[in-house]
Amino acid sequence: MKVYLANEVGFCFGVKRAINMTRQALAEHNHVFILGDVVHNKTVTSELEARGLVKMDDIDGVRGGTMVIRAHGLPGAQIQEAEERGLSIVDATCPIVAQAQQAARELEERGCQVVIIGDKDHAEIKGIMGALKRPALVVDSIEELRQAKLDKILLRKVGVIFQTTHSFQLCQQIVNELIMMAKEVQVINTICRPVRNRQMDAVELASRVDVMIVVGSHSSANTLELKHLCQRYNPRTIHIENADELDLSQFEGVEAAGLASGLSTPPDLVEQVRARLIAWDQQRRELVNSE
Ligand code: SF4
Repeated sequence: MKVYLANEVGFCFGVKRAINMTRQALAEHNHVFILGDVVHNKTVTSELEARGLVKMDDIDGVRGGTMVIRAHGLPGAQIQEAEERGLSIVDATCPIVAQAQQAARELEERGCQVVIIGDKDHAEIKGIMGALKRPALVVDSIEELRQAKLDKILLRKVGVIFQTTHSFQLCQQIVNELIMMAKEVQVINTICRPVRNRQMDAVELASRVDVMIVVGSHSSANTLELKHLCQRYNPRTIHIENADELDLSQFEGVEAAGLASGLSTPPDLVEQVRARLIAWDQQRRELVNSE
């Protein structure tokens, strides 16, 4: 069995940057905390918590310390509250997420109703919505968009941005539908280029192997998106968080396996999956040869 790695695996630059900034804050300050997770990956968050990072749900009652802003950003009101309380702030918001927030503000200033294509419960979307003066409409499907039109909450002049990790294909479909509904549609493409490159690369790999493996947290939006995309091109796509979750019986008779990862997956985890597959294949061949 051959195991092919996607061109890029492991952390993207935004995640690497956020982890490094958090490690540095932990090395330099005593009480360091974060609202939510730095990134959506248990291995990473456990490592940082072991170094002293405290995860909190809100800053009620917090009197001092250093607050790290996660890679997906935070709503402006929460940042302002932290500043008013005199907390030191380490802003680890990914610059691409910050650009998406800026794009939404720009569309709002141009007088558009801001429409965000993405998952309304995702931290990044909450951060973008919190950067605006007026409520944005968040949709994740054509059905949700049609419902907004029926509910008469879709205005005539709209400005669209995308969740940075969203599927470009889905965003295109929703924009096509929107063009038929609104009088004026302005679009700023805020999809993160590293995400897009990884998606295209993984899809290409998935379509030429027998089994495709996507490594990443079950709660990571970009990993789930990668899995769904790969599944379209290869129904034998498996999503695992680490090497322990590999069910090796699924690889009997497989000649080529592909391996890709989400952008918040530590590179070591991908390497462990590859090593386990190769070791299993070798053992199996030795067994066959000895018979
Ligand atoms: S996936 Fe893109 S937007 Fe998200 S943290 Fe990485 S580089 Fe930034």
